[in-house]
Amino acid sequence: MSLNPNLTAERPTFVTHLECSMTGERYEADQLHGLSSVGRPLLVRYDLDGVRAMAPRAMIEARPTDLWRWRELLPVRRTADIVSLGEIETPLVPIPKSGGPNVLVKDEGRLPTGSFKARGLVMAVAMAKALGVTKIAMPTNGNAGAALAAYATRCGIETIVLCPEETPEVNVREIAAQGARVYRVNGQIDDCGAIVGRGAAEGRWFDFSTLKEPYRIEGKKTMGLELAAQFRWKLPQAIFYPTGGGTGLIGMWKAFAEMETLGWIGPERPKMFAVQASGCAPIVRAFEAGEEHAERWEDAATVAAGIRVPKAVGDFLILRAVRESGGTAMAVGDPAILKAVDDCARQDGLLMCPEGGATLAAYREALRTGLVDEDDRVVLFNCATGLKYPMPEAGIALDRHGEIDLGGL
Ligand SMILES: *Cc1c(COP(=O)(O)O)cnc(C)c1O
Repeated sequence: MSLNPNLTAERPTFVTHLECSMTGERYEADQLHGLSSVGRPLLVRYDLDGVRAMAPRAMIEARPTDLWRWRELLPVRRTADIVSLGEIETPLVPIPKSGGPNVLVKDEGRLPTGSFKARGLVMAVAMAKALGVTKIAMPTNGNAGAALAAYATRCGIETIVLCPEETPEVNVREIAAQGARVYRVNGQIDDCGAIVGRGAAEGRWFDFSTLKEPYRIEGKKTMGLELAAQFRWKLPQAIFYPTGGGTGLIGMWKAFAEMETLGWIGPERPKMFAVQASGCAPIVRAFEAGEEHAERWEDAATVAAGIRVPKAVGDFLILRAVRESGGTAMAVGDPAILKAVDDCARQDGLLMCPEGGATLAAYREALRTGLVDEDDRVVLFNCATGLKYPMPEAGIALDRHGEIDLGGL
C-alpha cells in the first residue's frame, strides 16, 4: 500500500515512439530496445500537444513533489509497473562559504541507494519489468550497480553486475547486499561493458549499460524538470555536472526542450558545464579539439570513480548540448577535487562525494577565469552521498578510566 497518489493513480501516458539520437530513425514504443541500428542511444518521444492539453503545469505542481509527479512526461504506462523506494525531490542546498552567495548544490545523495543513479534505474527497471525482462547485466563503477540491484531485486529480476577491480569496496558490498551477483573485473568500465555485451549477444541477459537502453535518460531527465519547478520555471544561469556517461546532462537538456515546447519555460537555457577529472577527460579533449565524438581515454585514473568513464556512447549528445548551451567542458585535478570536498564539509557542513567536489572545483576555476560571474545563479550537482566514499582517518582514542583533560578536548 502507498499513501502517495503519484504511486497509485493511473495517469494518461503520451509516449509515441522512440528515435535514434543520431539518424532520427523511428522505433516502435512498447517493445524491448537496446541501441539503434547504428549503435547509438534511442530517445523517447512524446505527444507533447497531448501533454499540454491533459497535464497543465499547475496540475503537476499540485501533486506531491517526487519523481513520479512527472508521470505524463515519463515512459511507464501502467502504475503497477512502478517499483519505488521513495524517489524524493532532492533539495537545493546553499553553500555560501565554500561556494558563494549564488551557489546551490542539488544534493542527489538523498535518493534511494544514495545516488542519482536511482533516478535512471528506477525508470529503466520499471520499463524492463513492463517489457518482460527477467535477467539483466550491467557494467558499473558502483552507484549504478547498487541502484540496479535494489530496484531489480524488489521486482524479482535477476541481476549480474561487473565492476572494475578498483571499484570502492562499499559499492561492491552494497550491490551484493541488495541481491545482485557482483564480480570484479581486471579492467575499466568499458572492459566490463564488453563482457556484458558478449553475454547479451548470446541472449543470456538484457544489457543495461549506460545509454544502451532508452529509459535511464528519461529517469535522469527528471533532474531538469525538478530544477525548473524549484526555480519557479526560470532556470539557473549555469549547471555544473560531473560527466561520465553523461546521461544526466543529456537528460536535462532533453527535459528543457520538452518543457519549452510545452510552454512551461522560455527559450533561455543554463550554460552546461561538463565536468571531468584530469585523469579521465575524453569529453574535455574532444570539446577543445572541436570534435563531434570523443576518443577513448587510455589509463584513466581519478578518485572520482563515478566519472571514470574512458568512452561514452552518448559522447556526441553531451558535446552537442554543451556547445548549444554556450557552456564548456572542463577538467579538474584530484587535489582540487579533494580540497573542494573538504572545504564544503568543513565550512558549510555538506559532505559531498568526490564527483560533487569536482563540480565545486570546476566552479571555482570558472569563476577565476571569468566563464561565470559571481552574480550568476549556479547549480552544482552532488550526485551521491559522501558517506559512500573513503574518508580521512579520524577519532583519537580516549581512556575513560584514566585522566581526561577536558579543557584540551
Ligand atoms: C554515475 C555518476 C556520475 C556520472 O553520471 P553520468 O550521468 O553517467 O555522467 C557522477 N557522479 C556519480 C557519483 C555517479 O555515480
